Amino acid sequence: MSILLDRVHDVERWAKIYENRAPEEILCHAVEEIDRLTFACSFGAEDQVILHMITKIKPNLPIFYLDTDVLFSETYALIEETKRRFSPNLIRVSPKLTLEQQAQTHGETLWNSRPDLCCDIRKVTPLTDHLKGYDGWITGIRREQAPTRANAQVFEADAKFGLLKVNPLALWTHKQVWKYLVQNDVPYNPLHDRGYPSIGCSHCTKAVAPGADLRSGRWSEFEKTECGLHQ
Ligand code: SF4
Repeated sequence: MSILLDRVHDVERWAKIYENRAPEEILCHAVEEIDRLTFACSFGAEDQVILHMITKIKPNLPIFYLDTDVLFSETYALIEETKRRFSPNLIRVSPKLTLEQQAQTHGETLWNSRPDLCCDIRKVTPLTDHLKGYDGWITGIRREQAPTRANAQVFEADAKFGLLKVNPLALWTHKQVWKYLVQNDVPYNPLHDRGYPSIGCSHCTKAVAPGADLRSGRWSEFEKTECGLHQ
């Protein structure tokens, strides 16, 4: 039976109680209440904040990242720095198909021809398989990032994966994220300083003009706004 069915009322109660609490309090409650909990780290600014908080609250919490094989070189460098300074045991989750196998089966540039299928192969399926070992996951989504995230709760039921979902920064602003990174000397992706507020795969992420929508550089030539990991 999915853990969700057992704990959906807990999640609704926690969401109300913790709505305006500090992210650290939300994380402490999550690690106390959810046995098999993990953090999905994308190495974006928000996730670097959460990773830093987790290393202080529960250093042995499993932290994983999706390596689509087409991340920016700056992201790969940040992964190595993050491992060296904070989390040597980051778990790398990768797609079943190599880029070569994907090209043979679906064509050379699937991200251009069918980005939803590409995201499914390189992100959603590996994530779905990996999350089968857990009861809950922590993410860095914030309400102000996009209309699709405007209703994110600090604790919520994730029906897509049948898990509890914890969004400790749901109410935080862009400014709060950056204040935390600077005050705590947390490393971040240098692409953020070059006009990339949201960073995904190199084929599907562009720099945006100052003041533009934070996620407008993602799949900018398509209607697509999410890769399918967050509903
Ligand atoms: S973001 Fe682009 S390259 Fe990455 S998995 Fe999705 S479509 Fe493929």
